[in-house]
Amino acid sequence: MDPLGSYKSIISARATDKRILKRCQDGGIVSAVFIYGLENNILDGVIVADKEEGFRPVPKVATTPEEVLEAAGTKYTVSPNLSVLKSAIREYACEKVGVVGTPCQILSLRKALKYPVGFRHMVDKVKLLVGIFCMENFPYMGMRIIVEELCGVRIEDVVKMDIGKGKFWVYTRWGEVKSVKLKKTHPYEQSSCHVCTDYTAELADISTGSVGSPDGWSTVIIRNERGEEIINKMIEEGYLERRPIDEGKFGLGLLKKLALVKKEKNMKEIEHRKELGLPVPPDVCH
Ligand SMILES: Cc1cc2nc3c(=O)[nH]c(=O)nc-3n(C[C@H](O)[C@H](O)[C@H](O)COP(=O)(O)OP(=O)(O)OC[C@H]3O[C@@H](n4cnc5c(N)ncnc54)[C@H](O)[C@@H]3O)c2cc1C
Repeated sequence: MDPLGSYKSIISARATDKRILKRCQDGGIVSAVFIYGLENNILDGVIVADKEEGFRPVPKVATTPEEVLEAAGTKYTVSPNLSVLKSAIREYACEKVGVVGTPCQILSLRKALKYPVGFRHMVDKVKLLVGIFCMENFPYMGMRIIVEELCGVRIEDVVKMDIGKGKFWVYTRWGEVKSVKLKKTHPYEQSSCHVCTDYTAELADISTGSVGSPDGWSTVIIRNERGEEIINKMIEEGYLERRPIDEGKFGLGLLKKLALVKKEKNMKEIEHRKELGLPVPPDVCH
């Protein structure tokens, strides 16, 4: 079985809009897709993770490209994006909602759409699920300890965080770049992430992350017709530029390897927790 789940195609791509490239995490795929959706009446509201002081994430219903741009960039902590879904539909009266989420959030949302207990009248209003790759996340205080204690940077000064090349990176508004080896950040990970076996948001319409593509570009997994239609239109109309995915060991090879590592490592943890009588997810994807 493919460790990336099912998909139609995989490409490398990046946004062409300079405003997006200035603020985004990788190739700006999430922001570009949402802005394209809002500008072309495919979506009328999107759920993103904005941030408050201290890099605290806040789920937000964005209805304009400016609001999407404000929320660009990765927050390496939990942003309960699904908590504002009802608000998007009931308060903002959105009829065509896009949602970005980590693999666990995409899985939860798919489940809610399939078995809509408490989600009546909402199923047909969720139009696009954009998943972001995720190996693990950190509780807010964990992320803060990594930034302030391990990297020695005040959280107020941070403009960007990133994970890559075996390290957690912190960029400050003074132009400083600090990093710490992931070996040292492991103790601060959210423990529920260790029983998750989905690296690439397998149930999204479109999944994206940096692994497998050159710096500044994103790997884009197009999973179904809905995802394919929007990505193809964006390429045709010049919102995205694309290049073939590197099929080698630092491209698709690395992506598949990491996806498999997450499955195998966390399946072991699931078995271990089962032995101890601890609760584990009932229907993990293998
Ligand atoms: C905890 C975490 C771990 C990750 N691990 C990996 C990894 O191992 N490998 C990899 O290739 N990529 C990983 N990513 C994804 C990567 O960091 C980028 O988010 C992704 O490539 C999208 O970049 P972009 O330039 O297309 O998005 P942007 O255009 O910058 O947009 C990012 C979107 O994601 C939303 N967002 C930000 N943080 C969160 C959050 N915590 N929860 C939900 N939504 C959020 C933002 O509001 C924004 O709408 C991880 C992301 C997170 C949140």
